[in-house]
Amino acid sequence: MGEESFANATFEEKLEMFYGKMTDKQWENSIEQVIYICRDYCGKCPSHVETGEQNLAFCMIGKSSVITEKKTCLCSQCPITKTMSLRWEYYCTNGNAIKLSQAGK
Ligand code: SF4
Ligand code: SF4
Repeated sequence: MGEESFANATFEEKLEMFYGKMTDKQWENSIEQVIYICRDYCGKCPSHVETGEQNLAFCMIGKSSVITEKKTCLCSQCPITKTMSLRWEYYCTNGNAIKLSQAGK
């Protein structure tokens, strides 16, 4: 797949290309990389700050056990949204992208 068609691929297509083929170790590493970027988004998000939540990268790890209030969501501004063609938001309360995709959303 060329660069342009990759950029236009859906989340499900990208998922199959990368994540479907990953080992557990690679999955862990990829979460680490997402966390590094997510710090500037979830980490500064009004729904996240002052909740005591320590986790990030909810688009991968799924719902927070701490965040309950949807104040606002910065995911649309996060580069991961574009990189992975994510089309949802509020992963911290709605669940991760794979789950939302499987739910047909
Ligand atoms: S998923 Fe969205 S609402 Fe939740 S902490 Fe991250 S940016 Fe905020
Ligand atoms: S899309 Fe949202 S949850 Fe995922 S890394 Fe970006 S800010 Fe964090």
